[in-house]
Amino acid sequence: ANTLRKRKIAVLGSRSVGKSSLVVQFIENHFVDAYYPTIESTHSKGVAYRGVEYDCDIIDTAGQDEYSILSSKHAIGIHGYVLVYSVTSRRSFDMIKIVYDKIVDFWGKNDIPCVIVGAKTDLQSSRQVAPNEGEELAKLNNVAWVETSAKNNVNVGKVFELCLAEIEKRSPSSKTD
Ligand code: GDP
Repeated sequence: ANTLRKRKIAVLGSRSVGKSSLVVQFIENHFVDAYYPTIESTHSKGVAYRGVEYDCDIIDTAGQDEYSILSSKHAIGIHGYVLVYSVTSRRSFDMIKIVYDKIVDFWGKNDIPCVIVGAKTDLQSSRQVAPNEGEELAKLNNVAWVETSAKNNVNVGKVFELCLAEIEKRSPSSKTD
């Protein structure tokens, strides 16, 4: 189980839902309050999951809206997706559905390795999306779901574990590849 396996994960969702904060908390173990919103960056990290070491490339995108076309950069060679909404933004939750449909269109199938993430759970008083709504959307599409707080470092590692699980579930890698 020492084989290093490369997995490319794209992080998508509306602007300012907390994509960069999630990725930076995962990679660097700290919370950043302000980050350049328009810059796309790729981060690499080794992740051990079920005794297997994965070499993960995490693509932190600038953010999508109704009008953005799914870039081939975010589709070709991607193994799994992390779709982030903020629990404080109904609009960002609706955007996840649009982005998911675009991915489905691109892949030409409805079985996408994907984790839906409700971010910023520490902002309870501003919550607009209930936990069961996220859970139900995930269930409907047969993908994973989790709520996180990058600020309080809640469930951040879990997001990427779930994503690897989603990828493995659909295309299990043998012990030798
Ligand atoms: P992105 O545009 O989706 O990458 O969003 P950012 O990661 O840049 O975050 C947008 C804003 O939300 C920033 O001011 C962050 O500090 C803030 N933010 C991100 N995650 C959290 C969180 O878990 N809790 C709180 N309270 N704020 C957050």
